[in-house]
Amino acid sequence: MLRTHTCGELRISDVNQEVVLCGWVQRIRDKGKLIWIDMRDRYGITQLVLEEGKNPQEIIEIARKLGREYVVMTKGKVIERESKNPNIPTGEIEIDVTEINIVNSSKLPPFTIEDDTDGGDELRMKYRYLDLRRNPVKENLIQRHKVGLEVRKYLDSQGFLEIETPFLIKSTPEGARDFVVPSRMNLNEFYALPQSPQTFKQLLMVSGFDRYFQIVKCFRDEDLRADRQPEFTQIDCEMSFVTQDDILETFESMTNYLFMTINGIELEKWPRITYADAMKYYGSDKPDIRFDMRFVELTDRVKNKGFVVFDNAEIIVGIAASGCAEYTRKQLDELTEFVKRPQIGMTGLIYVKYNQDGSIKSSVDKFFSETDIQQWLDAFGAQKGDLLLLLAGETNKTRKGLCELRLEMGKRLGLRNPEIFKPLWVIDFPLLEWDDETQRFYAMHHPFTSPKPEDIPLLDSDPKAVRANAYDMVFNGVEIGGGSIRIHNKALQQKMFSLLGFTPEEAQNQFGFLMNAFEYGAPPHGGIALGFDRLNAMFGGQDSIRDFIAFPKNNAGRDVMIDAPSTIAQEQLDELHLILKKPEKE
Ligand code: ASP
Repeated sequence: MLRTHTCGELRISDVNQEVVLCGWVQRIRDKGKLIWIDMRDRYGITQLVLEEGKNPQEIIEIARKLGREYVVMTKGKVIERESKNPNIPTGEIEIDVTEINIVNSSKLPPFTIEDDTDGGDELRMKYRYLDLRRNPVKENLIQRHKVGLEVRKYLDSQGFLEIETPFLIKSTPEGARDFVVPSRMNLNEFYALPQSPQTFKQLLMVSGFDRYFQIVKCFRDEDLRADRQPEFTQIDCEMSFVTQDDILETFESMTNYLFMTINGIELEKWPRITYADAMKYYGSDKPDIRFDMRFVELTDRVKNKGFVVFDNAEIIVGIAASGCAEYTRKQLDELTEFVKRPQIGMTGLIYVKYNQDGSIKSSVDKFFSETDIQQWLDAFGAQKGDLLLLLAGETNKTRKGLCELRLEMGKRLGLRNPEIFKPLWVIDFPLLEWDDETQRFYAMHHPFTSPKPEDIPLLDSDPKAVRANAYDMVFNGVEIGGGSIRIHNKALQQKMFSLLGFTPEEAQNQFGFLMNAFEYGAPPHGGIALGFDRLNAMFGGQDSIRDFIAFPKNNAGRDVMIDAPSTIAQEQLDELHLILKKPEKE
C-alpha cells in the first residue's frame, strides 16, 4: 500500500504514529516560519505542518514548490494541534512532516475546488472531474451509492430479483421519441435505446420470475426542458399476481424505509387521491400537499348575476389565502400580473378581502351584494383576515392557472418548506387522452396499462371516461414515479391498440412479440418505475437532479466535457451506409 491512512482518518488517539498519506493539495498557508498544507482525499482533510529550522530544509523547499491540486505523498508523525479545528473530524491533530513527494503536478484549476465555488455551470461541466472533487457534489454521489444499495437490500428482502434487460431494442412509435442506433450488420435497420424496460419486464412476468427490479438507464429523445436528462435512471419494478394495493403498499414501504435509513425521517401513512379530485382540488395531477389551500368552485353560485366575466366562464374557482386580507393594492397587482403572464394566460384576477374587523371588500363589489359575497366566504369556510383569489374561464386552463397561483401563494406564505416531505398516491388516471391536433387518442400512461374492469364497457361507448389502473407517486408537488396494472390478455391489448389508431397489422408488427407471449399463460401483473435521479435529489434536499449524476448533459443535451454528440468519420458512415444531410444555408 502506498499509504497507511486516508486523509479523513487520523484522530487524537493516533498521536505519535508514523503515517503515510496520499492526496491532493487543497490549500497552502505560508507564514514564513511556518507552513501549513491541507491535504485532501475522498475521506477528508488532514493538515500538514512544517517549520523553518525544525523540519529538514529540502522538505521546506519542496513544500514551497507545491500548488493547488498537486498530488503528494507525505510521511510524518501525528502530533496534537495547538489550535484545534472543531469543524473537521481530523481537527485535533496535524502531521509533522518528515518526507514529502510530489507525485504529480497540477495546472491551476479553472475554478476553486471548495464547497462554494466561483465556477459557473458551463465551466464546472467542462471540467466535471474537478467539480466532482468538491464536497457537495461528491457527497451527492456517495448518497446515490447508498440509496442504490438500500434499494437493492430492501427489494431483495422482499423477493425481487434484479435482472438486466437489453439496451439495443426495437423502435416503437408510442411514447417519447427514441434514440436510434444504426446496425452495421443489418443494412438499413436500426436499434432503439429503451425509453424504459417496459415490455421486457412484462415478458419476465410471463416467464414466471414473479418479482423483478432493475436500477436501469432509460433514454428519451425529448425536447429538453429544464432539469431533464436525455438519459436518466429508474428503479424499475414489476410484480405478478398482485392488486394495485399490493404495489402501492410495497413501494410506499420501500420509500419509507429509504427515508428512514438515508435521512432518519419517519413518514406518515400516505394519502391517496383520485386524478379527478387532484384536478378538482389542486388543478394538478401532482399536488403539493404540504399546505391545504384547496380549490373551491363557485360556478353555480356566481353565474347570471350580470357580471359577464363570470357569465361567460365555464368555471369560477378560487383559493383562500389566510392572513392575506391586508394585501396592498401593489401586492394584488403583482398577483394579477402573475396570472396574466403568457405561461398562464388568464385575463384577470378577482379578489375578496375578508378583513379582520369583519368588513368585506372585493374587486366585484359593483356586481355582487354583501350577502352574495358572504355566501362565497361560507363556501370557502373563510376566516377573518383571509383573502379569496378567484379565477374564471375555461375549466382546464383556469384550474392550471389557479394551481400556479396556489403554489405562488404557498411560496409567499412560507408553506413550501423543503424540509417537510408530504408524499401521496394519485390513482385512477384516465386511460386515454384525446389530442386535437392529431385527432386521435393517446395512452395517458402507456398502451400496456389496463382499464379498470368496471370501465371496460365504456371502451366502446365513451373511451374518454375510462379510468385506468394507473398511479403516480408524488412528493411535494413533484412526480417521483408511476406505474400501472397491465393488460395481460391478447384480445384486450389488441383492442387498446385499435383505440390508439393502430391497424391490426401495425399492432402485430410493433408489439406482436408481447401479444404472442400473452397467449402462453401470462399471469396478471403490474409494476412501477421511480426516477432514481429525482429520488436522490429529493433525499439531498435539492430541486435539480444535475448534481446527483456524475456526468450529466447540459440543457441542450450535450456533454460539454467529452463534446458529444459529435460527427463521425467517413469510414464509419460508409460502413453504416449513412449519408449525411448537408446543413441548410443560414
Ligand atoms: N415504464 C413506465 C415508465 O417508465 C413505468 C411503469 O409503468 O412501470 O413510466
